[in-house]
Amino acid sequence: MLTLILTVMITLHPIGYVHNKCMESMTPERIKQEISEIEILPEYAEGLKSVEACRYLDLVFYLHQNECVQFTTPIRTGEERGVFATRSPNRPNHLGITTVKLKKREGNKLYVEGADALNGSPVLDLKCCDTSVYEQENIHNAIRVDSPRIDIVRNILSNETKELLLKSAQLHGHICPGLALGVLGATTVMQKLYEQGEDSKDYILTVEMQNCLVDALLFVTGCTPGTHRFQEGDPARMSFSLKNREGRGWEVHLKDSNRAWIAKQVPASFSVAEKGFAVLQLCFDDLFEMTELSGKSSEN
Ligand SMILES: [Zn+2]
Repeated sequence: MLTLILTVMITLHPIGYVHNKCMESMTPERIKQEISEIEILPEYAEGLKSVEACRYLDLVFYLHQNECVQFTTPIRTGEERGVFATRSPNRPNHLGITTVKLKKREGNKLYVEGADALNGSPVLDLKCCDTSVYEQENIHNAIRVDSPRIDIVRNILSNETKELLLKSAQLHGHICPGLALGVLGATTVMQKLYEQGEDSKDYILTVEMQNCLVDALLFVTGCTPGTHRFQEGDPARMSFSLKNREGRGWEVHLKDSNRAWIAKQVPASFSVAEKGFAVLQLCFDDLFEMTELSGKSSEN
């Protein structure tokens, strides 16, 4: 088969420029500490509509100060690597791509953290950062610092209850059916909350039980005594609720029949931890009763 390879000249037009105090002599780490202004040219400014919705952006820029190309280059450990296995600026097309954090926008100017572009670098593109391909454990630490519960939120949205049970057990000290019940109950309520586009930071968890479930409820909802979004009620009620200031939310009651149901569904020969994982496979409605609370209007 004949393959025709065309050498194409590509002409790129800057959409803007980077302004900061960074000169060529500075290390990338030092440059990243600076706040950079990205000025988008007026003819491209319409493309910034709703850019505030992106907390992280991929900044594509031209490494205008670098003219040389090195196909191999030593990295910090001294190991010699090919240029495509490094972030060296001495690359064939002199393109820089860096994920930056958007701090604020003023008209056609964006102020970002984490850019390693020198002052005057032509900006070729900006894209909303997509981290969906990253493995859970590889979520960038900068994102973790900003949103420490991001792993838990992803687990809830993806219904990864096994993962949530393992993580709750780091707090609880062991895996047991009670902890699994708490994971199941709290995950279901949190999914309802996220469906409404809300976050638990505006909600208070009221726990009316004193058992292993409580630790999973705290962990999954993020409503802890330290955040002042946790309170205890009558432990005899065997229920919990997640409510906002208006009293809107959900109340979840653990059915009296839960033990008998679990005993029927989960083999007695299982270890306590195995029983915990098995409980996650059970149907929420067979174990709990959930009531949606409509808040103030319902009290009238
Ligand atoms: Zn337990």
